[in-house]
Amino acid sequence: MEKIDLSSLTFEELSEALKSLSLPAFRAGQIYRWISRGVSSFDAMSDLSKDLRETLAQTFSLAQVYEETCLVSSDGTKKFLFRLADGNHIETVLMRYEHGNSVCISSQVGCSMGCRFCASTLKGKVRDLTAGEMFAQIAYINRTDPVSHVVVMGVGEPLDNFDNLVTFVRNLSSPKGFGMSQRHISVSTCGLVPKIDRLAELNLQITLSVSLHAPDNETRDRIMPVNKAYPVEKLLAACDRYTAATGRRISYEYIMIRGVNDTPRHAQLLAKHLHRKLAHVNLIPMNHVDERDFQPSTPDAIRRFTAILTEQGINATCRRKLGKDIDASCGQLRARFEKNNPTR
Ligand code: SAH
Repeated sequence: MEKIDLSSLTFEELSEALKSLSLPAFRAGQIYRWISRGVSSFDAMSDLSKDLRETLAQTFSLAQVYEETCLVSSDGTKKFLFRLADGNHIETVLMRYEHGNSVCISSQVGCSMGCRFCASTLKGKVRDLTAGEMFAQIAYINRTDPVSHVVVMGVGEPLDNFDNLVTFVRNLSSPKGFGMSQRHISVSTCGLVPKIDRLAELNLQITLSVSLHAPDNETRDRIMPVNKAYPVEKLLAACDRYTAATGRRISYEYIMIRGVNDTPRHAQLLAKHLHRKLAHVNLIPMNHVDERDFQPSTPDAIRRFTAILTEQGINATCRRKLGKDIDASCGQLRARFEKNNPTR
């Protein structure tokens, strides 16, 4: 029988799973706390008896990530290649900011969304990550670099792995566990409308980032296949419902691609859409991906675009590029880094 992975359960589910062992109720809290500290084995749970630790190990498992490589950028950013228990690989990035260490985690092995500018989706989706595997990326890094912020913006579409994502967020923010404020957690989506609505119902205090990247369907269709299912007007309406339900400002991500979505006309239309909304625009100069044809916008085009947004009263900033020299920037992560490890 396959062992149940305790690190992928909520506190309530874990308490339920432990019932089979007829333990006193406080044990669930103890074990949950140990998991949130990122222990890699039951043996490390030093306030449990040796017998109990053995019994737990026979019945349950704990998700792990195994470091294969870590590249360090001149700006201090670290990119980890992690192997999972089944041999799949994911990438995770540690970014250092004045406000603390932020970890960008992967939510799937590969991605099926097909965005034309992104490396993560080149080979499609292999599988979803479990809640425990999402947390294990943070727990691993937290041992040496205390993690204060988490962004779910690595490989994968988090809302395409909805239930595991929500369990992960609940565990990461549980006062009984890791205890990270939900306001320090950002989740980025390419715009799966029904899932945005489901998320709104949960009323979490996380930041939702929406990869808009174009203000009209003609442009967005060209770069994001997901737009066929959920076009711009439906996506923006879902974002409005999300803000109405949660009171949280949405962060719109907008990659600047030369001659594709970066003209003054695009900026004007974007400003019109976001007028008087609780919104922030995060402009991302497109990062290079070998297999993709698009080019980044010129600095002039980015300045012009930002100026138009600002003039129209839209709050816009340009994302600083971290980890450029190690291919750790947005859209450059993939399920495996053959490129940096050609022999692997
Ligand atoms: N699937 C989610 C999260 C992963 S991508 C989403 O789509 O939001 C994280 C961010 O990086 C997204 O805004 C994505 O569109 C952006 N991105 C992808 N490829 C990029 C590239 N080549 N240059 C800059 N940003 C890119």
